[in-house]
Amino acid sequence: MNMIINGQDLPASDGETINVINPYNNEWIDSVPSATKEDIDTAVKAARSAWRSWKKTPVYKRVDLVNNFLTLVEQNRTGLGKLLSLESGKTITEAAVEMNNIFTAWHAFSEKAKHLYDTVIPAGLEYNHDNNIVLTKREPLGVVACIIPFNFPCNLFNQKVAPAILAGNCVIVKPATDNPLTICRLVSLMREAGFPDGVVQVVTGRGSSIGQYLSTHKGIDAITLTGSTTVGIEVAEKAAPSLKRIALELGGNDAFIVLEDADLELTVNEAVNARFFNAGQICCAPKRFLIHRSHYEAFVTAVTERIASFTFGDPLNPDTKVGTVISERAARIVEDQIQLTVQQGGRIVLGGSREGAFVALTVIRDVPFSADVMHDMEIFGPVMPIAAFDSADEVLELANATIYGLGGSVFTRDMKKAMKFTDNLECGSVVINGSSYFRSFEMPFGGFKYSGIGSEGVLSTFDELTQLKCITLKGIGNY
Ligand code: NAP
Ligand code: MG
Repeated sequence: MNMIINGQDLPASDGETINVINPYNNEWIDSVPSATKEDIDTAVKAARSAWRSWKKTPVYKRVDLVNNFLTLVEQNRTGLGKLLSLESGKTITEAAVEMNNIFTAWHAFSEKAKHLYDTVIPAGLEYNHDNNIVLTKREPLGVVACIIPFNFPCNLFNQKVAPAILAGNCVIVKPATDNPLTICRLVSLMREAGFPDGVVQVVTGRGSSIGQYLSTHKGIDAITLTGSTTVGIEVAEKAAPSLKRIALELGGNDAFIVLEDADLELTVNEAVNARFFNAGQICCAPKRFLIHRSHYEAFVTAVTERIASFTFGDPLNPDTKVGTVISERAARIVEDQIQLTVQQGGRIVLGGSREGAFVALTVIRDVPFSADVMHDMEIFGPVMPIAAFDSADEVLELANATIYGLGGSVFTRDMKKAMKFTDNLECGSVVINGSSYFRSFEMPFGGFKYSGIGSEGVLSTFDELTQLKCITLKGIGNY
């Protein structure tokens, strides 16, 4: 599959390609171009040129194009879902959820775009401004680079590209190298839908080369990246000299806290569903399970029994519950993290092994508070490390003892206790009696601390991807 630059289907200018491999069976699926700096320069030039008219295109016309695009997605839904499953190792059922989300997200951002009103600051609110009226106007930033991670490529494409273009920006999308195909197809459908050349482009290639180049490029006004904290910091450094806007949605190590008065059955359901969906590769999945000692044995037994019944296998088989992680390389990292946790005192009660890109669903009990996984080691795979605690103060301190601050969850029947936790957890979202992997397109989603800068969602992304202009009508007020 090729890139889409200035409305054209293009290979890399030097002809270099990168293979895309199915992590389930190691079979070659397709290849994508390994873009050169010249390719990026061409895309940036096309975007800057397209922006002159796109920023003046009325919002209702932009929404008409979105609707054309959604019609094409509907016609291609099955093929897109299959492609996403093949290149990612996620099950066909999980891929179908991501397909459905395209409609939810693009409709929601379109509705919001049609209802973004500006503000009038009337005369006479402030001394010496008896006759000055100020209007605020929201303007697009210009060219926005959208850098997408592998785990939910379509969801994050929606979260970034929809608000960016609806607000009048032009975008250059850079998908993850492991699974770029579905994103390339979506951009191709946008071209077919009638978006003008240069408004939406997709470039493929390694983050370490073209991702870096995009981050330094003077022709780009903003970078919105979802990915790891290490990469986020690198992008922030590279973007600083050109004062680009940055929006960073990064890693997490969310605590899942079960208090003494929690509903145990609910906690088991939430824990199992949240930790193993997408083979555990979710930024805001609970990744540290902190259980009050009174529930500890029952919780460990119940989650282990439940997980032991999950079926592994071909991700394209609708009966398969858990697929592979994104690559064998990623699976090896998870395997090493499991071993480290065991060396640090944890005891495996289920799983612990790896075969190719499959990581067996793993439950590790008795993980000491001192283990890396209880602090800054994010495990991006199907692993549930469980620790016991005795007091609410102790568990709150542990939950906050991490560089991350994405989300957290607390289970209790006492709303006063719940509110104490929500006030004191240092993270961007807290779920009471549910897992922190809860995410809707409407909500503002973002991390504190090393989990990011800014916030994404229907409520907040338009603020991130626009700038406010003030227009003063001097001396015309009536005081
Ligand atoms: P990643 O390795 O950081 O990659 C994310 C994207 O950045 C990819 O497109 C990657 O390209 C690109 N990239 C890599 N190095 C770059 C550089 N130096 N400059 C610019 N771009 C660069 O993350 P991942 O492994 O795909 O995703 C997993 C991580 O994302 C986890 O830490 C997870 O918690 C986090 N995440 C966060 C959220 C959130 O909303 N907070 C959501 C999902 C995932 P290549 O593929 O070519 O390397
Ligand atoms: Mg990666």
